[in-house]
Amino acid sequence: MRAVIRRHGALVVDHMAAPVPAAGQVLCKTLVCGICGSDLHALDHYDHMIDMTAQMGGFSHMKKGADTVFGHEFCCEVLESGPGTDGRFKPGTRVVSTPGLITPDGFEAVGYSSRIPGGFAETMLLSEMLMLEVPNGLSSEHAALTEPLAVGEHAVIKAGVEADHALMVVGCGPVGLAVIACLKARGLGPIVACDYSPERRAAAQAMGADQVIDPAQSSPHDSWAALGVPGSRAEGVVAAAQGKSVRRPLIFECVGAPGVVQALASAAPAGTRILVAGVCMETDRIEPLVLITKEIELRYVLGYTAEEFAASLRNLAEGVTGYAGVITSVVSLDETPQAFTQLQTDKSQIKILVAPGK
Ligand SMILES: [Zn+2]
Repeated sequence: MRAVIRRHGALVVDHMAAPVPAAGQVLCKTLVCGICGSDLHALDHYDHMIDMTAQMGGFSHMKKGADTVFGHEFCCEVLESGPGTDGRFKPGTRVVSTPGLITPDGFEAVGYSSRIPGGFAETMLLSEMLMLEVPNGLSSEHAALTEPLAVGEHAVIKAGVEADHALMVVGCGPVGLAVIACLKARGLGPIVACDYSPERRAAAQAMGADQVIDPAQSSPHDSWAALGVPGSRAEGVVAAAQGKSVRRPLIFECVGAPGVVQALASAAPAGTRILVAGVCMETDRIEPLVLITKEIELRYVLGYTAEEFAASLRNLAEGVTGYAGVITSVVSLDETPQAFTQLQTDKSQIKILVAPGK
């Protein structure tokens, strides 16, 4: 079969052996698979990711120097159920799954393994017990957004958002937009969103952000007062004494680059909670005294639960979120290496889907 393979630090389109289902696994045809920011990171920071995962006892089976096929945001069509399955998914059924494969040796991260292909290939293996049928009528492209939307769902739940929070989303890539979509689906707000890219700001607005800011033009932190957040502790004490309602600042960091957390902590009001959903792959520096003095609260999150994943599929199928607007193009396997480069350099692109059959 054909696949986009990470080989010696670059992506190549080549042939490889099609996978064979083991016990409990189902062979599927990959219909579409989204390119994730983590795929861009994994291409460039491959060895570092392996070292860090090993240090943390993770279950990624990427091997240094070995071929790896990325892709974990997929929608597939069932081809053939393997041994030890109950055949509950008939051939032709469209499915999604959390990107984990149960193997005789344990759990394998789909899209971060040198032993099984991820979604940038013509076929892949899924575990029958983790598969969910795409509800009637939802397009394969939109179903492939289940995974990135679940990341937003998880971030919003972990942030512990309450009605008196003033919300800011920093970075309107696929993660930031998923957060906005999930906040809006819950009727939460107001939301201030900021991004340097006009296309990403427009997408944020389409997803329901109440105010969008170009950080090149003005600081998003100028918005706090208008959102009802006191500028200082003293101001907060006075406002409370006067019986005024005040809001608590909560920022979703959806950039994932060195220096962003510290810059936010420095500029945000005292008492801000920062939910870090961006995935920074490099060593970062924090000036603790700034965070201590301002009692900045940091929360780091990753991934989602099976329940959050299933809820995201339902929300997409029932039109609860406007997240489908995140898709900016659909490319073939041959066009995929170029799409990676484009996502790294051209921020007018947001979510590019790979359709191996295209
Ligand atoms: Zn992802």
